[in-house]
Amino acid sequence: AIAAAQDFCEGYKTFLDNAKTEREATAYSEKLLTAAGYQKFVPGTSYAPGTKVYTINREKCVLAATIGTKNLEEGFHLNIAHIDSPRLDLRPVPVFEKTDIGYLRTHYYGGVRKYQWPTIPLALHGVIYRADGTRVNVCIGEKDDDPVFCITDLLPHLGAKQSAKTLAEGITAEDLNVIIASLPIEDKDAEQRVKLNVLGMLNEAYGITERDFTRAEIEVVPAYKARDIGLDRAMIGAYGHDDRVDAYPALMAEIGTKSPAYTSVCVLTDKEETGSDGVTGLNSMYTFHFLQQLCAGQGADYITACKAAKCLSADVTAAYDPTFADAFEPDNGTYAGRGVAIYKYTGSRGKSGTSDASAELVSYLTGLMDANSVVWQIGEMGKLDLGGGGTVAKYVANQDIDTIDIGVPVLSMHSPFEIVSKADVRPDCSGAILAHSKLRLPGSCHSPASASRVAGTTGACHHTRLSFCVFSRDGVSLWRA
Ligand code: MN
Ligand code: MN
Repeated sequence: AIAAAQDFCEGYKTFLDNAKTEREATAYSEKLLTAAGYQKFVPGTSYAPGTKVYTINREKCVLAATIGTKNLEEGFHLNIAHIDSPRLDLRPVPVFEKTDIGYLRTHYYGGVRKYQWPTIPLALHGVIYRADGTRVNVCIGEKDDDPVFCITDLLPHLGAKQSAKTLAEGITAEDLNVIIASLPIEDKDAEQRVKLNVLGMLNEAYGITERDFTRAEIEVVPAYKARDIGLDRAMIGAYGHDDRVDAYPALMAEIGTKSPAYTSVCVLTDKEETGSDGVTGLNSMYTFHFLQQLCAGQGADYITACKAAKCLSADVTAAYDPTFADAFEPDNGTYAGRGVAIYKYTGSRGKSGTSDASAELVSYLTGLMDANSVVWQIGEMGKLDLGGGGTVAKYVANQDIDTIDIGVPVLSMHSPFEIVSKADVRPDCSGAILAHSKLRLPGSCHSPASASRVAGTTGACHHTRLSFCVFSRDGVSLWRA
């Protein structure tokens, strides 16, 4: 069981390293789908049960489905996760020079704590279009012999004033400038000699000019790879667990689905971190247009199908962090290593912005998980007056589809190096892992409720496929129950 979870996590780490941006995650997912026999979805086609189809939205979103034996009007099973992560984007006019150092100006994307981004190695990923419409793919900083980039911070010796500021003010958005180069061009009479050198090197390597940055999407992300954390290798540290740690299992479950009763649909979406707006966000109609076309091709009424459908909104949440215990309400916390976390609701300031799944849906899902020995926990993000957050759940629920939040708890969530427990990535195996760690580390599990859950789930891995499916709603088994 532990070996199975470890194996699965090796595949997950490879996904993390090859999919640091939404475009890369989409391209990598498409490779996995086509290798698994998925064919391009053709609207208007009626597909036989068991057929696997997929489509891509604007290189940034993945939609994949396996046709079920039941009519779509009896419902379908959606699983949605997102593949954009908090990061720094380049501004349209990014290159500048100050006292012999060339920089790129950035605009942060999503909820970042700005002080976390200086003094770590950074890579540049993205696309640029030249004036003639040709495209350049950029990826610098990932190969071992690539250069990396960096944002500076002030030395402690001169840090008295900065240290007196709040964390929010210590590093501001205007300070998040990435060092790109520091050598000037030879012409001593020229102005902006370092900037000219930068532009010259970019032109030589990619045939681009400064103006081409205006038609580019370059993302600045941490340059390091995913690594195991701890002597026991029980955790993974990486950039972008939010939300690849849900997207990858969702995709693998969709791929593993064979001849389901209910049609399974996996969506990996973009723009969650900025509120799901825009043509690649869940607020756009792209997912629902796909579902409409799927229904039309199968001769099913879309509205009837939606009313009978169920959706897992898969997204990460905060793992209880004992170092910052003040931020959490322990009884309703969710803990790294205690299984996948269900959220009846999310939101902030009195559940604002949540879809709030019905008790009936929670009952249905937890019943399925219990029956199949999936280790799960349920909770809230933290203390109510400190903030909160939302997911894509409401945008699906707003379309008359029963939706519930579920996902992996993350330590240091939204940081450049987030941490998850492997047991939560494969919750069907976490019973065995928890039991194992309990033997080795007596007293490591403080909650009696969790302890009994652990006891009750030892040996869960006889149900590996079943429970894996539950988490990721693949429709193979559990959702068919
Ligand atoms: Mn997320
Ligand atoms: Mn997030």
